[in-house]
Amino acid sequence: MIHVKAYAAQSAASPIAPFGLDRRDPGPHDVQIEILYCGVCHSDLHQARNDWGRSIYPMVPGHEIVGRVKATGAQVKNLKVGDLAGVGCMVDSCRHCAPCLAGLEQYCLEGPTWTYNAHERGSEQITFGGYSEAIVADERFVVKIPATLDLKAVAPLLCAGITTYSPLRHWKVGPGQKVGVIGLGGLGHMGVKFAKAFGAHVVMITTSPEKGKDAIRLGADEVLVSKDLDAMAKAAGSFDFLLNTIPVGHDVNPYLQLLKLDGAMVLVGALTPVDPVVGGNLIHGRRSLAGSGIGGMPETQEMIDFCAEHGIVSDVEMIRIQDINKAYERLLKNDVRYRFVIDMASLKDAG
Ligand code: NAP
Ligand code: ZN
Ligand code: ZN
Repeated sequence: MIHVKAYAAQSAASPIAPFGLDRRDPGPHDVQIEILYCGVCHSDLHQARNDWGRSIYPMVPGHEIVGRVKATGAQVKNLKVGDLAGVGCMVDSCRHCAPCLAGLEQYCLEGPTWTYNAHERGSEQITFGGYSEAIVADERFVVKIPATLDLKAVAPLLCAGITTYSPLRHWKVGPGQKVGVIGLGGLGHMGVKFAKAFGAHVVMITTSPEKGKDAIRLGADEVLVSKDLDAMAKAAGSFDFLLNTIPVGHDVNPYLQLLKLDGAMVLVGALTPVDPVVGGNLIHGRRSLAGSGIGGMPETQEMIDFCAEHGIVSDVEMIRIQDINKAYERLLKNDVRYRFVIDMASLKDAG
């Protein structure tokens, strides 16, 4: 067993606080990673506070993990000691169902094993995430990170990156299309960067007019303030594709009305119920409303390699682990520019 320092929530109401846990010794297919940086996803906050009603405590959040390989099992083929590596939202899956065989482990029919807030397969052992010094995971669920990228700004790619890259690729976003990214937070800012890199005309759709300048700097061609009803009415029927990252249930109808013939809106943020959908908003214009979850392991590696080739990373604000509770409060106020990343060296100061 490897004893590591961590930070955990003990209940939905308790702050994230120092905690100690044991990682397994690496098995033949495992990689042991010293965690250098971990991004802070809004899902960490949802799960720490039991917003989705299935939280397991103690909970060590964190699924945007990057670090250096410290040890490998005898059968590990693709990674060696000293390599930079990343772990995202999953650490295992059944590996034999149709989605797993297709490299879409996030849609495993038996359910993937989430990096935290889950149990190891066939065991009562709780999985613990990246707010910790080290993690041990099967190499199938570890990606290789090129040394050319700024590592701390790579961490958010492991969730915010792949969650936006995957639907933009699946719905074949590209040149000649007008694409809206709704919500300028961790996911949204990566959505803008990828949609731009794929050649689309990108519109940032935000509730925060003061983020407009940043949206343009991140690559948006235009900004649409969703609270400006006149501007929303003028933009009706003009979008090919919308990527909706709003983190809570909301009224999707005003956004559906922005879509043109055969347009699609993909939800990635709201796991909880959205307001009733007016059928007419789908029927008129043959529009679709869909959803998408992170991305499979082959596509996650493809996304990292795409980022290396195009010099894409996240815009990050570095924090110490001791400031995690303050960061959560700022996330709730839409006050993140545009991803908090924990410098795990700060854990050394933890009790
Ligand atoms: P975030 O950094 O907090 O950003 C969310 C943004 O949405 C905010 O900055 C804000 O942008 C906008 N927003 C917030 N509340 C809103 C409201 N009530 N109405 C309209 N807009 C609102 O969050 P994130 O880390 O990007 O995560 C977004 C959501 O995706 C979370 O629910 C998270 O759990 C989920 N998620 C899903 C997946 C998946 O696989 N599908 C993966 C990761 C995360 P503006 O200020 O620009 O309006
Ligand atoms: Zn996430
Ligand atoms: Zn499976």
